[in-house]
Amino acid sequence: FYSGQSQFALFCEGSSTQRCTRSSVSCVFISCLLSSLQDMDREYVGFATLPNQVHRKSVKKGFAFTLMVAGESGLGKSTLVNSLYLTDLYNNRKVLNAEERIAQTVFITKHTVGIEEKGVRLRLSIVDTPGFGDAVNNTESWKEIEDYIDQQFEQYFRDESGLNRKNIQDNRVHCCLYFISPFGHGLRPLDVECMRALHEKVNIVPVLAKADSLTPTEVRRKKMKIREEMEKFGINIYQFPDCDFDEDEEFKQQEQLLKDSIPFAVIGSNIQVESKGRKFRGRLYPWGVVEVEDPAHSDFLLLRNMLVKTHMQDLKDVTRETHYENYRAQCIQNMTRMVVQERKRRLVLDTHTELPRPIHTKVGLMYNTFGTTVVLQSFSAQKE
Ligand code: GDP
Repeated sequence: FYSGQSQFALFCEGSSTQRCTRSSVSCVFISCLLSSLQDMDREYVGFATLPNQVHRKSVKKGFAFTLMVAGESGLGKSTLVNSLYLTDLYNNRKVLNAEERIAQTVFITKHTVGIEEKGVRLRLSIVDTPGFGDAVNNTESWKEIEDYIDQQFEQYFRDESGLNRKNIQDNRVHCCLYFISPFGHGLRPLDVECMRALHEKVNIVPVLAKADSLTPTEVRRKKMKIREEMEKFGINIYQFPDCDFDEDEEFKQQEQLLKDSIPFAVIGSNIQVESKGRKFRGRLYPWGVVEVEDPAHSDFLLLRNMLVKTHMQDLKDVTRETHYENYRAQCIQNMTRMVVQERKRRLVLDTHTELPRPIHTKVGLMYNTFGTTVVLQSFSAQKE
């Protein structure tokens, strides 16, 4: 660009002193432009296309995202997931009756679907936790969930340490939507214990379920109470990244809105309703309709945009860089400790193993008088 700029300066000088005719000025201009383009070409190495190369490669490879939903049954988890991704992931689900639920413990189910949008493929996995919070005694009912998250980390750690690291499938849980009941007064002890057990392992995004059962004032109050309680009990939920100072105002406002909306008050629906000549996903009541995607009715759209459009990659990055790194560091630390302990154990064993000692027999003594200790020791070893 430097030589291009200097030629433009020359052209300005010529035109201001009226020494050139109009046609000669435009000729100079065009030749300046051409030579500056040639200069640009010469100085252009091509690494500016790197983002395009990365983009092409990622699109070809496809994306994978694993979302976990946790919370008491009946809070609308499956309905919300279907509404979020406009799919029917639970078409063969069997809802247990009260009697069956007494005996049932928490188990983990996983549904995977391939979704394609404008040529971009997403392998979406939904991990559900039926039975959570259903038992009479729910002590440690989050253990299954915790174990599942650890198992995925373990599998990834093994794959990463193996010989063929080319096609590792990432099944790590990138986000956990934790459903909070709208009927209680803030968090229940089970919510506190479960979130505390999981917050170092997964990105927790709390949601206030069935928000259509609350008035706007109640939603505001409940959100505030839940936020206070999470702070009081030291629950670390997913933190939205801070905006760069040069980010545009609209983006900053959107990020602030997301932070202020925690926990997201959501409404789900599996059916389309019709009102005022419009069809939409909603819930029909005798007194009116609730539209799932209407920002005045719920935070559903905010949550979906966050999960899909704006923060999916960040959720994956935090999983990889923070949660998995913690697990990996812990694993390596444990392995090192085990190796050190094993070495110590061997050393102790070696020192306690009876070294061949001279036999103080007549023969032994005879040897002793004749020869060296070495001879004597090898003799005694042979004897033993
Ligand atoms: P899950 O057991 O947590 O997966 O809950 P489901 O998705 O099966 O929903 C349980 C019941 O709650 C069903 O009758 C749903 O129609 C209803 N439901 C789901 N989402 C909502 C919601 O946002 N508001 C209300 N009022 N009901 C809901």
